Amino acid sequence: MFEAIQTIKQNCRRCFTCVRDCPVKAIKIVEGQASVVPDRCIACGNCTMVCSQDAKTYASGLERTGELLESGRPVAALLAPSFPGEFPDLKPGQISGALKRAGFSYVVEVAYGADLVSEAYREFLKQHPEGGWIASACPAVNEYVRKYQPKLVGRLLPIVSPMIATAMALRQLCTEEILCVFIGPCIAKKLEARDPGAPAVIDEVLTFKELRALFTQRGILPAKTEPQPFDPPTAGMGRAFPLSGGLLKSAKLEADLLDPRIITISGQQEVTDILGATARGEIEPFLIEPLMCQGCHDGPGMSRGADRHNRKDFVRRYVNDCRQRASGACHEEPERIQETHIAPSLNRSFTVDDHRLQEPSEQEIRAILARTNKFLPGDELNCKACGYDTCRTKAIAVHHGLAEEAMCLPFMIEQAERVCSELQIPWQEIRKVHRHLINTEKLASMGQLAAGVAHELNNPLGTILLYTNLLQRKIKDRDDLDHDLNLLVEEARRCKKIVGGLLDFARQNRVRMEVVNMGELIRHILSTSFQLPKIAEKGIQVIYEDGTPDITADVDRDQMTQVMVNLIKNAVEAMDGKSGEVRIKVEETADTGRLHISVSDQGCGIKAEDRERVFQPFFTTKSIGKGVGLGLPICYGIVKMHRGTIWYDSTVASGTQFHIELPKTQAMAGRSMLS
Ligand code: ADP
Repeated sequence: MFEAIQTIKQNCRRCFTCVRDCPVKAIKIVEGQASVVPDRCIACGNCTMVCSQDAKTYASGLERTGELLESGRPVAALLAPSFPGEFPDLKPGQISGALKRAGFSYVVEVAYGADLVSEAYREFLKQHPEGGWIASACPAVNEYVRKYQPKLVGRLLPIVSPMIATAMALRQLCTEEILCVFIGPCIAKKLEARDPGAPAVIDEVLTFKELRALFTQRGILPAKTEPQPFDPPTAGMGRAFPLSGGLLKSAKLEADLLDPRIITISGQQEVTDILGATARGEIEPFLIEPLMCQGCHDGPGMSRGADRHNRKDFVRRYVNDCRQRASGACHEEPERIQETHIAPSLNRSFTVDDHRLQEPSEQEIRAILARTNKFLPGDELNCKACGYDTCRTKAIAVHHGLAEEAMCLPFMIEQAERVCSELQIPWQEIRKVHRHLINTEKLASMGQLAAGVAHELNNPLGTILLYTNLLQRKIKDRDDLDHDLNLLVEEARRCKKIVGGLLDFARQNRVRMEVVNMGELIRHILSTSFQLPKIAEKGIQVIYEDGTPDITADVDRDQMTQVMVNLIKNAVEAMDGKSGEVRIKVEETADTGRLHISVSDQGCGIKAEDRERVFQPFFTTKSIGKGVGLGLPICYGIVKMHRGTIWYDSTVASGTQFHIELPKTQAMAGRSMLS
């Protein structure tokens, strides 16, 4: 099927403007993408004008025209009477000259065919005074009637359009077989040229925009072209045809203009309204003269330059100029065309091609509406955002596969709001887990590295220590070397400690669970691992809040000792230069029944820029020799092995509180666990 209008998919952006402005809803939306349904389309070309993304285009006649011009046969350019609106800066003769330069043998004004058609209309109406007729000069209107007002098909005046009439006259007049290319403002003419109901006399149709492209292709500058007269036959008042009411004027039905039963209408809204009312029998006009555009000078094939009123004015001026110069004074008659008596038969027929959408059952419509939360009539906002006038007509389109539920803007906004509020809490959770995962991943890869390094260093360090001890024993009496050897041992031991820490961090050790009284454990740690009196001398009180001494938990005693020592040591060191308290608390959480341990200090706090890094191995803010940066990563590893969590709150210059939460009873209590 010939596709007069096509969609450039990659340009289409879910705005539904084409749906809104399509008078017959010939646009199908699939997954937000609009495409024209060819057999529903009337080729009015509205969508090509309203699409801001240039996603709608029309079938080009340029290639075929080129072929015709190269065919060796004479080609006539049939120039639509709205041409002064497209080329206001050119003398009419310059268009003719430029077309001749482009290869056309004849350039004829279609206004001549309009004269023939006007006469035929006048005759027909005289013979059919019963009225109820619709002028059939606008191909988009004819398509509209055939497809969407089939009741009115018999009312379309069965007379060809000025385009066809001109081509028929030319073919009759010309002695050789002539090819005809219509050039005008209309896309629907491309459909009409292929309409089996009309004589097949048009070989191709170009819009004015395409004509400009043809001139460019062939390097022709019409403004610099020598004017040439149009070829006969010569037009008369048919030049007024593109103007709304122009048909009445050229058919000399002007006197009847005051007759309320003669209706001149233009623009899709007015045309569909009046023809609808006629079909329903609400009005009974004698003659309707409809134009789907606001006059042909406003057609979709015009370049978008001057505004509609100016273009109309240029057409009007040209009609008046020609009248003043007395018709035909400006043309020259070529030899092969004789302006003799031309009386082609201008009859044609129109057939019904019903494309009205069958209305589904009320139940089906309600079911479709319900899918976008429209349960009661009050829910139908009829906001037109989807491009349809009412929620109901859109539901019918959904039923026929032309529209989608997701086109309903209020529904989609509601959905988006609901999803957003539903996502809000999980989103925060996701961010937390994400941060945690990144941290864990980092720690895991560092752990692997640390384990590798520690393993490699552990044995040589042991050898260094062993041989240093042997040396010490061998050279006992060498006082001068004693100090150096002691230093060697001390440093080697320090290295071993770091390596041991690394191995702890890398969780290469087993966890041996046992039931431990946490109060006792902490008191033991404070008395054995810290010199509390010395610490107190600096004004720091280390306080174990011994509220519930009987709390017991399944933990690895040694490893938990390591955790507590690290946390308390850090807390005391954070108090450097300040007096205050370090408080240790062990309690059972009421809601979860887990063990909660906290170590709080009133020290320097952790700076914002260090917050993410304190659990990373080798991150330390302490001086060399004092801090290695393995304390907290080890705590982290051990707590994780106990299926617990560790975190902290900190305020710079006020203090830090580290928290550990552990299950009181380990699922694998009493058994060894490997990380
Ligand atoms: P180290 O103590 O060897 O530096 P850690 O892993 O135990 O290694 O601690 C890393 C860093 O975390 C410390 O250098 C310090 O900057 C910060 N930090 C740990 N605990 C505290 C605390 N209670 N108050 C302030 N900063 C702390």
